[in-house]
Amino acid sequence: MPRVRRKRRRELKRVPRSNMTLPEHDRGALPEGLLTRRQLREKGLSPGGHDPVAVLRCKYCAFRPDQSCNHPTRGWLYDVSLARPKRVPTLAQEWALDRAMAARQTCPVPTCGRRYVFCLPLKTIGSCLECHEGTPADPSSYFAPPAKHLLAA
Ligand SMILES: [Zn+2]
Ligand SMILES: [Zn+2]
Repeated sequence: MPRVRRKRRRELKRVPRSNMTLPEHDRGALPEGLLTRRQLREKGLSPGGHDPVAVLRCKYCAFRPDQSCNHPTRGWLYDVSLARPKRVPTLAQEWALDRAMAARQTCPVPTCGRRYVFCLPLKTIGSCLECHEGTPADPSSYFAPPAKHLLAA
């Protein structure tokens, strides 16, 4: 029985290297100052909007230095001098932020201790409105206080 010849799925054009395209570098032989996106991230940097300045050639192309790497496994290289620090809050920063918000949203009256979804006028009134003037607080506007407040009350 004749075997059905499978067509090659990924037909890639062979393109000779030229000066018209981005410079290409092989893995392990990168000039200084060029980093992959992942390497940038590890340094806490991001490309900062600039496009890749060079191509990181795939492993396969290390054996074909005369051809341009247009394989999907190629990487992109970014100029570290154009990179910007990445501003992603760490978990600790988020907690600190939440603590700060909690302090502004929680009624300090020991028998209350409710945390509201908005900031309380602590500088002027010093408590929530219900503790201040008896206006019942909308139950959907606060979270029940932690259990220790109930115990202390
Ligand atoms: Zn390649
Ligand atoms: Zn209160």
